[in-house]
Amino acid sequence: MKLSGRSIIGFREGSGTPDLFYATNPANGEPLQPGFAPATAAEVDLAAQLAAEAFAVYGRISGKEKAKFLRAIAANLESIASELVARAEQETALPKARLQAETARTCGQLRLFAQLVEDGSWVMACVDRADPDRKPVPRPDIRSMLRPLGPVVIFGASNFPLAFSVAGGDTASALAAGNPVIVKAHPAHPGTSELVGQAIQQAVRECNLPEGTFTLLFDNGTKIGEALVKHPQVRAVGFTGSLAGGRALMNLAAARPEPIPIFAEMGSTNPVFILPGALQERGDAIAAGLHTSFTLGAGQFCTKPGMVFLPPAAEADSFAARLQHLVGDTPQFNLLTAGIGSAYRAAIDRRKQDSNVQVLAETNSPFAERTFCAGATLFETDAHTFLKSHGLDAEIFGPTTLLIRHAKHEDTLKVARNLEGHLTATIHGTEQDLRDYADLVAILETKVGRLIFNGFPTGLEVCHAVVHGGPYPATSDGRSTSVGSQAIFRFARSVCFQGFPDNSLPEELRNDNPLGIWRLVDGEMTREPATQLARRQS
Ligand code: NAP
Repeated sequence: MKLSGRSIIGFREGSGTPDLFYATNPANGEPLQPGFAPATAAEVDLAAQLAAEAFAVYGRISGKEKAKFLRAIAANLESIASELVARAEQETALPKARLQAETARTCGQLRLFAQLVEDGSWVMACVDRADPDRKPVPRPDIRSMLRPLGPVVIFGASNFPLAFSVAGGDTASALAAGNPVIVKAHPAHPGTSELVGQAIQQAVRECNLPEGTFTLLFDNGTKIGEALVKHPQVRAVGFTGSLAGGRALMNLAAARPEPIPIFAEMGSTNPVFILPGALQERGDAIAAGLHTSFTLGAGQFCTKPGMVFLPPAAEADSFAARLQHLVGDTPQFNLLTAGIGSAYRAAIDRRKQDSNVQVLAETNSPFAERTFCAGATLFETDAHTFLKSHGLDAEIFGPTTLLIRHAKHEDTLKVARNLEGHLTATIHGTEQDLRDYADLVAILETKVGRLIFNGFPTGLEVCHAVVHGGPYPATSDGRSTSVGSQAIFRFARSVCFQGFPDNSLPEELRNDNPLGIWRLVDGEMTREPATQLARRQS
């Protein structure tokens, strides 16, 4: 497929503004052709109008039709996989194998949502039948189910050019719920974005869906994103990226005359607690696993473990020494963008100058001067200093982590109670440790979306049970997940129908249950037609 460098607005090509921007190859700092034209305000308006028109049709098509569309996107992506991976490699310098796996994950996510909407039970249909004989007043017939919201705007992050980008989990879940999607492309990988956008546009045509079902707008600043969030036709926002970006968009969404929901999935520091029994039993193995985890993808994962709490055991010294050795031998990395490179270097410099923290180890090979290059850094402090210092729990996006030594069991609990919201928390322990630290688990459950025992937070499984979310500031809404099939619930709302004749109801709510979905009928979970169930005595 040929890259045009122009926005995809339904079936049309945007013209954009003449001030083109270019992707950069992080491996050599060279700009990549073609230039991309930032969208205009008129194009934002056109995209939103087309999406609103499309919603009237797309919002009401069957689960089977949506499943066909999601599978068509996956098939179209697979048909251009090698081209896609080659362009993504140029734009991100991420290893080819990682990008191939990410392509497979992206297609897998689309198919997971296809399965979900084809089955149809996700709409959580509830049927409470009328009871005309109820005393003192008859009970009305009330039925409810989830319905889509309307046009959804999606922002992807730089670190997942496929799985959290144009056809990533946010787009897949919003489309699966029945919402047209407008994606604001990430300026770090515009070519990858356009290729994916073309594959989605082609699927819209193949499935005879309305033009405004999908739009992709380019910009290398905040103007277009802001205009999209403020547009009156937009009904919700999905964002993956930094806390600063997410917070700015949360404020914009709340300040609209008609505020809209925003699901911002932001950065996280992902605390790791190593308990005494585990440290004694397998400190070296945990150190090696931790090193792999915080340097994986050059530490550019929202699940990177950025704070590690160590107990006062004698083995803590040898654990730290093992990590020091591994960090010293860590090679330099190419970070994703010049901005991430300079932010990482600045954050490391600030932490080095912080008298509350010591540098334990750094990549031994000298830092290259190129903006994209960075080595690993290991810092250390103690729990008392950690608790009284400001900012030691903040995310540093890149290959670094902070060891925090603590003295007593109570320190561990105090540190945990003081944590703000994170995506994950990890505990390394034995069964005895778990019994001794039962309070820790109870505290952490209130702080994160995913608790990991004897594992590492990087490497997230996409499935039905997974939760990739957490209390603010990990996300804007701690009740949601952005990964896994439950991500669909962000982009739907419950609507209830009272007193309607059966043949005027959506199929999901009709007495005979023509779709055969799971429903809560008079309080009982069943796939049986409501007509075959005994009436509830109220
Ligand atoms: P970013 O700088 O926040 O950018 C994300 C997107 O939002 C870009 O398209 C960006 O556009 C746009 N944006 C940012 N600030 C904006 C504003 N004020 N107004 C309008 N648009 C705005 O994030 P990133 O550097 O790409 O990604 C790295 C961050 O993402 C890390 O903190 C990482 O932890 C987080 N992340 C989180 C998850 C998760 O699931 N929670 C997953 C992956 C990454 P412009 O660049 O054009 O301004």
